[in-house]
Amino acid sequence: MREAGMESVTIAVVGSGYVGLVAAACFAEIGHRVICVDNDESKVKTLREGGVPIHEEYLPELLARHRGDRLEFTTDLRAAAQAAQAIFIAVGTPQSRTGSADLSYVDAVASEIARAIDSYKVIVEKSTVPVYTNEWIRRVIERNGVPTEMFDVTSNPEFLREGTAVVDFLQPDRLVVGAATERASQLLKSLYAPLTSGEYYKLTQAVPGPCSEKMPPPLLATSTKAAEIIKHASNAFLATKISFINVVANICEAAGADVEEVARGIGMDSRIGPKFLRAGVGYGGSCFPKDVAAFRHVAETVGVDFGLLREVEKINEEQKLRFFQKIRSALWTFRAKKIGVLGLAFKGGTDDVRESPALDVVKRLLHEGCIVTAFDPAATERSKEFLPPSAEMRYADDPYAAAQDADALLILNDWQEFGELDLAKLHYTLRYPIVIDGRNLYAPAQMIEQGFTYLSVGRPGLQQPADPSGAFRRAQTKDDATV
Ligand code: NAD
Repeated sequence: MREAGMESVTIAVVGSGYVGLVAAACFAEIGHRVICVDNDESKVKTLREGGVPIHEEYLPELLARHRGDRLEFTTDLRAAAQAAQAIFIAVGTPQSRTGSADLSYVDAVASEIARAIDSYKVIVEKSTVPVYTNEWIRRVIERNGVPTEMFDVTSNPEFLREGTAVVDFLQPDRLVVGAATERASQLLKSLYAPLTSGEYYKLTQAVPGPCSEKMPPPLLATSTKAAEIIKHASNAFLATKISFINVVANICEAAGADVEEVARGIGMDSRIGPKFLRAGVGYGGSCFPKDVAAFRHVAETVGVDFGLLREVEKINEEQKLRFFQKIRSALWTFRAKKIGVLGLAFKGGTDDVRESPALDVVKRLLHEGCIVTAFDPAATERSKEFLPPSAEMRYADDPYAAAQDADALLILNDWQEFGELDLAKLHYTLRYPIVIDGRNLYAPAQMIEQGFTYLSVGRPGLQQPADPSGAFRRAQTKDDATV
């Protein structure tokens, strides 16, 4: 696939989580030799033996294609760093108690790299880090006795979304490369040349997506500080958009308007755009909550009051509570109620449950004495770490098993299959045909026509009239079901 002048680069990727593993597989896919490092021995063993530790579309195919050829896995950071021309740091940067990013993993990796350096290396921040981290990494490496001319520290933030991570990596909206020297900048540009030249998209086995040979992704070269800020500002802006539409949804709900119509009308303005205007139960995941907090902390550190971000966080917390109140309004009391739950991951398409609003809702339900049966196509195993199976917390193998004899069904994330349920079957499976949809996957009119009490976010609540005689109890047989 390589044009003359396009060289294969040897890359070490430190951290083989959602970002590192995807980056490693994708760099191998575009022709580089990749050594993927992790200090979690069991993860490395799984990867070496052909396992795939995370759920991500196309990842199993790419790992199978390149494992043992251009892609290898190790716990030996020293050897990987010595073999590589570019060393990507893709370890976690979780939220510390103060809200700032905890950079201790990055610090530890930087020290280890410093002890390994024996020739010129380009060290690349792939993890999401606050501005000035670049300078700290440089300082750590110099403190370990490495001469300045032996390395450069660059920033190449990652914008992939879990669930579509491989496509996002290989077919990005843009690539951002922050470097202080021409030498480092050139190396990073050459790494992405198969994408920016369009060469990759000519291949028959290329992972499909929006880019093409004629429309390759742009690469934006910036300073290292600008690249660091671009990543934090992007996530903070997206979280702001979500909180904004959630407040608009609450206004719609009070006024009797439909937020979906309102969002469509707002999003048709090309200055605003239609994406990230989906009202729901609030944002979650391993990035937005911690990155908003970290960016707010960065602002404070440099003496800027970013009060807007405090509001964004507050709205997000309130949105989760509001949804819980909505459940209460439909059920009246909670103790011993059976609740079916669809969705445990923080969104559809992933097995990641970090900061998942769905887990938050389930924990509250359990605390109130409910009996929960939950289904998620990929996140059950990870959820069990936080919500072990018990008499009150049960896991189902499909959506209808979760709904079986439940007093209500909650939809808490947006897997495609949750929006394509057989509504007649669902109706007679539930004890009471009550659906509380935190992701607006159904049209309210359709649900009421099918005989459901249907509550969603930012749309007028549609409730079957309460009838003590049991008029809205479930149909007993398939034939009884409202179809
Ligand atoms: P993760 O927790 O899934 O993976 C981190 C990996 O690093 C783990 O496998 C861990 O074992 C490994 N690790 C930790 N210390 C190590 C060390 N000293 N040596 C070797 N390996 C080590 O995290 P993630 O979701 O991949 O996120 C990584 C970074 O990328 C974070 O800064 C995150 O904010 C950023 N990011 C994440 C996403 C996303 O959607 N997950 C998107 C863009 C950016």
